[in-house]
Amino acid sequence: MAENRKIPFVTLEKVNEIAKTYPTPFYLYDARGIRENAEKVRKAFAWNPGFREYFAVKANANPFLIELLHESGCGCDCSSMTELMLSEATGITGEEIMFSSNDTPPEEFKKAADLGAIINLDDITHIDIVERVLGKLPETMSCRFNPGGFYNLSNGIMDNPGDSKYGMTEEQIFEAFRILKEKGVKTFGIHAFLVSNTVGEDYYPTLAGTLFELAVRLQKETGAEIGFINLSGGVGIPYQPEAESPDILRIGEGVRKVYEKILVPEGMGQVRIFTEMGRFMMGPYGALITRAINEKHIYKEYIGVDACAANLMRPAMYGAYHHITVLGKEDLPCEKIYDVTGSLCENNDKFAVDRKLPEIQMGDYLFIHDAGAHGFSMGYNYNGRLWSAELLLEEDGAVKLIRRAETPDDYFATFDIFPIGKKLISRKKSGSLTGGTDAEVCL
Ligand SMILES: *Cc1c(COP(=O)(O)O)cnc(C)c1O
Repeated sequence: MAENRKIPFVTLEKVNEIAKTYPTPFYLYDARGIRENAEKVRKAFAWNPGFREYFAVKANANPFLIELLHESGCGCDCSSMTELMLSEATGITGEEIMFSSNDTPPEEFKKAADLGAIINLDDITHIDIVERVLGKLPETMSCRFNPGGFYNLSNGIMDNPGDSKYGMTEEQIFEAFRILKEKGVKTFGIHAFLVSNTVGEDYYPTLAGTLFELAVRLQKETGAEIGFINLSGGVGIPYQPEAESPDILRIGEGVRKVYEKILVPEGMGQVRIFTEMGRFMMGPYGALITRAINEKHIYKEYIGVDACAANLMRPAMYGAYHHITVLGKEDLPCEKIYDVTGSLCENNDKFAVDRKLPEIQMGDYLFIHDAGAHGFSMGYNYNGRLWSAELLLEEDGAVKLIRRAETPDDYFATFDIFPIGKKLISRKKSGSLTGGTDAEVCL
């Protein structure tokens, strides 16, 4: 079954132990994997002394995980008020925050500036707004570029920036740099995010080529001093068991070659490289762990689990593949074909469709792989389903609660100003940490 293999970072024995304290479903993160990967990223770009990865907080907004990455030198890429607040609370401020927002409410520019964050403008009209809110523009500013048209990579993957809402046209970015320079901005950055979840290794080098050439022209024609180029996110991970992970060391080397070819001869060998990866930093190192609680035999075979699309939306929203390992059955043949479903009253609430798996018994734990990025953070409350707990598996095997499960009281909390809130929200002041105790049923 080698073709159908992906190794979970936790054993059945360990999950049995964890589940005694924290009932399923829960997210589990692998501290070792996160650290080792962040270290690799640092190495891949070590040739560029000013390099920094700004972790895209929207991919996973847990402050304990953000802190873990911060220990490895990562900053935060934020795009909303609460992401800025999280970053601040985690002790990440100043130029360790990149504020790459769009359709931005003015007060968020204010908050970003108060924290000393680098503001990355999505649009030329935001220059006036930022100036109005702050009184004076910051000395360092960045602009987001959208080249329009189609963006082709050598492996046939392409995307359509011309159809996306982000960034400025080429004409606008030249104009923006001139205006910003006139208004006193001293150091400039360029940012673009053109293709998502790229599996090949040429996306960053190709994008770097585009942005480095633009940087040379911008510096020549506007006199603006380019301080950094931000390659943003988009480096993919292998969701399918047969897929290979992009090698970040080779990607970094690819960017270095383009840097030496385009920037260095122009005397721009001081330019810092930034990235804003989310998926690549966290995706493989988080799993949703859920339990089989129902089986159903109609026109197809269904396994119902105690998690649902409200916990992990990607399969329902994008038809995304997430590999599933039935813990303890890693070596059994996959001779059953199941749809693995959650409980939402939505027929797309399926973690897997027609998936070959070993025979599943009620109570089995399913390890849903690669849920560390755009997993928990895309959760929602449809059907009144509550958010799960998040746990961190430390390198020494200890398990730390890094977010408790949501309780009905949390869910009803915004009714607290109405009489009905008094009926819904328990009067106990200190709720239990695991929550849902009234409704919990042991299998
Ligand atoms: C989503 C996003 C990222 C992270 O993207 P990944 O594909 O998770 O690496 C980075 N920057 C911006 C501005 C984003 O919107």
